[in-house]
Amino acid sequence: MAELQLQHLDKIYDNNVQAVFDFNMDVRDGELIVLVGPSGCGKSTTLRMVAGLEDISAGHLLLDGKDITQTPAKDRDMAMVFQNYALYGHMTIYENMAFSLTLRKEDPNVIHKKVLAAAEILGLTSQLNKKPSQLSGGQRQRVAMGRSIVRNPKVFLFDEPLSNLDAKLRGATRREILLLHKRLKATMLYVTHDQTEALTLADRIVCMSMGHVQQIGTPLELYDRPDNTFVAGFIGLPPMNFYQGMGFEDGMLKGNGFEVPLTDEEKETLKDYYGREIILGIRPEDISADGPLQIRVTNNENLGMNTLVHGFVGDSAHIVAKLRGWADYRAGDTAGMKFGRKHFFDKDTTLAIR
Ligand code: ADP
Repeated sequence: MAELQLQHLDKIYDNNVQAVFDFNMDVRDGELIVLVGPSGCGKSTTLRMVAGLEDISAGHLLLDGKDITQTPAKDRDMAMVFQNYALYGHMTIYENMAFSLTLRKEDPNVIHKKVLAAAEILGLTSQLNKKPSQLSGGQRQRVAMGRSIVRNPKVFLFDEPLSNLDAKLRGATRREILLLHKRLKATMLYVTHDQTEALTLADRIVCMSMGHVQQIGTPLELYDRPDNTFVAGFIGLPPMNFYQGMGFEDGMLKGNGFEVPLTDEEKETLKDYYGREIILGIRPEDISADGPLQIRVTNNENLGMNTLVHGFVGDSAHIVAKLRGWADYRAGDTAGMKFGRKHFFDKDTTLAIR
């Protein structure tokens, strides 16, 4: 079992930079949690506090109910997989995977069994006698994971493990990590700046900005019900379109030189905002062709199964629509489109209006 409780964690570095503010979360046994956010938002710092590689400035960290805030990294029973793999170049793959157990002076027979079992899980059995330099980036990443698996830690920590791989290998390795998680049923914390990795891997996502947790929830919750404009804009690709200064009147949303009709349900949601300005959010994939909204097309990008149409709406407000299938608009065309699902945010707090 491995449950983690992160209670009001703060991190203030020696130079007085506060990297993490009041991080609060209960991680359930066997959960794969992905910390996501732009560079510098405090993801790695949080992970490193959990690992014991950074001191915790304030708050408490509990593993299975036991306070480990002050416990040294080596006694925390956690294994960390780094972005640069940190393999020993002069050792074979076998020796790399066995290293931490050898260091602990475990019985060589036990070590042998554990290394072979981990190699089997990771498809590395035929690579054990090679040196890291003879392996591809993806294989080296798997060796790094293998080194963690042999230790059978309570918690696996991943710090941007795929960022050195090319796009194709990233996808493949992501699916391997998912299978590994299913197989080991281990508690995992995973840091990435890539929202696709977060959506595809996580049981729950923690989205951070500037040291603050913005929202914790399942991938669908963050995608479908983002709590604020930051999460709404960070999760989803291409990002959500935002329109400031939209006013709710006559059953319509008006502003930026265009107007959008509202459903009865949407009017009910906005009833306290009558006559006030709000921020409207529309995901590119929630826009469809053939509607009353006139888009002045600047760019048409065919992606195969989708087409991204870039342009302006109303008084030159930017818009990106992701249409199904192949469309052939040209720069200068006017395209009629309509909005499906809409998101509303308070203009002062940027919080979702529900
Ligand atoms: P992320 O992993 O989200 O990219 P980090 O946790 O690495 O972000 O960094 C969060 C903030 O803390 C950044 O402003 C970064 O510059 C700062 N920071 C990170 N490490 C240190 C350090 N050792 N000393 C001082 N500031 C640091």
